[in-house]
Amino acid sequence: MRRKLAAGNWKMNGTAASLAEVEALAKAHPTPAVDVLLCPPATLIARMADRAEGSAVAVGGQDCHANISGAHTGDISAEMLVDAGATHVILGHSERRTDHAETDAIVRAKTEAALARELVAVVCVGETEAQRDAGQTLAVIKAQLAGSLPDAGVDGATTVIAYEPVWAIGTGRVPTLEQIAEVHDFIRAELKDRFGPVADGIRLLYGGSVKPSNAGDIFATSNVDGALVGGASLKASDFSAIIAAL
Ligand code: 13P
Repeated sequence: MRRKLAAGNWKMNGTAASLAEVEALAKAHPTPAVDVLLCPPATLIARMADRAEGSAVAVGGQDCHANISGAHTGDISAEMLVDAGATHVILGHSERRTDHAETDAIVRAKTEAALARELVAVVCVGETEAQRDAGQTLAVIKAQLAGSLPDAGVDGATTVIAYEPVWAIGTGRVPTLEQIAEVHDFIRAELKDRFGPVADGIRLLYGGSVKPSNAGDIFATSNVDGALVGGASLKASDFSAIIAAL
């Protein structure tokens, strides 16, 4: 049985004052029935990990470099994330793919680096609106999964897949439950094809305009094992309601 996961992606939001949200969240869910993860900007990881210590809230990064150290100004390695107290890292988010021209091959190299340092990799895939309109959704997801995941080390303990349709991120637009089920069932089948029975343990998150009001229906959808939440993870009250819906 896959334990559900509520993951929050703060993106480029949050300063020291925002850390009070972590304490509120931890207090609201002392023994949550689901796993809870917050991924703040890099500047807050260590402080958030300190504040979350002893609670059920895990802390993750939003990206890591494929190398472990070296001349890469502004980048952060998987080893540094672990050192700061992170246990997870989001990789291949569509905003990284767009803003930083990350290809599937780059995401794959980063995922290998994360797995090598025993960070749980939350690997993101998702189609653009133009790709969906052109009927290419499943082909796009297939190619992203094939290119972004390494051959070795992927299983339920090490890897999470987040399906985030680009057109649903931050827009208030959400696919129908049938569309979500279609893609999640497809991802499960693709993972099984490639990785065998361990694919049954890999959690599949839906991401894109998840809110307290739609979380319950989305979580009841086939092969949805949780959510990757952007805007609604910034406030403990909203994220709490999403956690409760799981
Ligand atoms: P929103 O929940 O703000 O739509 O963002 C989704 C997302 O990109 C999470 O990674």
